[in-house]
Amino acid sequence: MSNIAYMALRWSGVAWVWREAVQRRKVTFLLFHDMDATDAERNFGYLKRHYNIIGLNDYLDAVKDGKRLPNKAVVITFDDGHTSNYTLLPVIKQMQIPVTIFLCSSIVGTHRHFWFRHNTEIKPQIEALKKIANGRRLETLRQYDFSQEQEYGDTQALSKEQIEKMIPWVNFQSHTCFHPILPQCNDTAAEKEIIGSKRQLEEVFGLTVNALSYPNGDYSTRDISLTQAAGYECGITVDSGYNNLKSNLFRLKRFSVNDAKNTTELMVKASGCYALLKHWLHKPSYGFKASHE
Ligand SMILES: [Zn+2]
Repeated sequence: MSNIAYMALRWSGVAWVWREAVQRRKVTFLLFHDMDATDAERNFGYLKRHYNIIGLNDYLDAVKDGKRLPNKAVVITFDDGHTSNYTLLPVIKQMQIPVTIFLCSSIVGTHRHFWFRHNTEIKPQIEALKKIANGRRLETLRQYDFSQEQEYGDTQALSKEQIEKMIPWVNFQSHTCFHPILPQCNDTAAEKEIIGSKRQLEEVFGLTVNALSYPNGDYSTRDISLTQAAGYECGITVDSGYNNLKSNLFRLKRFSVNDAKNTTELMVKASGCYALLKHWLHKPSYGFKASHE
């Protein structure tokens, strides 16, 4: 079904018009997760040919100085810090692509699991687990033999050595410690996740952290305040839309490309027309929450 929609949006010219007109004066943030090197080469190649890829810090600097950015500016981001991200390093180097990877600071460098990737039995429960209080979620996950502190036989996240090798080429930032749904956390847990991850990435990994990507794109007013208080310069959502130099830095918008498997899918998703039309028809369940736990 989605493939038909991608083809319709590409071949009708809608995605082209969107890219060349709607996106021209905007800064588009794109979200990837767990892409392999072949897909990355094709996807980065398309983005390089049709957009001006800039780093997250280029955008933040332009906001500070009020300097103009190139037309059709795109910021490439990856969430979570999946171990496969390391295989992209040769592509990133060779194509000179500025990339920001948001790390879960207590999962990278360990054999811990991302809770939503622990095993196949959890998969059908993921959406329901996102909607319950954080303590209850962790309690429920124990039934599936998952504990967030537990280390397992395999590795799901980047190792410390891999991160160190990538540092000269990649901007690493925070995606909390353990990837909870922030509005489902009480104040103590949210504080630990937001403030603690910045500290951990700086102290253990020697990084300079100025950006937080809210896990699952879920955030509340309280989470924005904590992000500001922790000293981050920006907070990144998955709210559909484009940014400019006047955007709210703690509610930066981003389109999920979700590791597009072909150029048609990438073209349509990177232009933003797919998400904007989809969300206009059906409001997504994630995003800003007026209240928190
Ligand atoms: Zn994530």
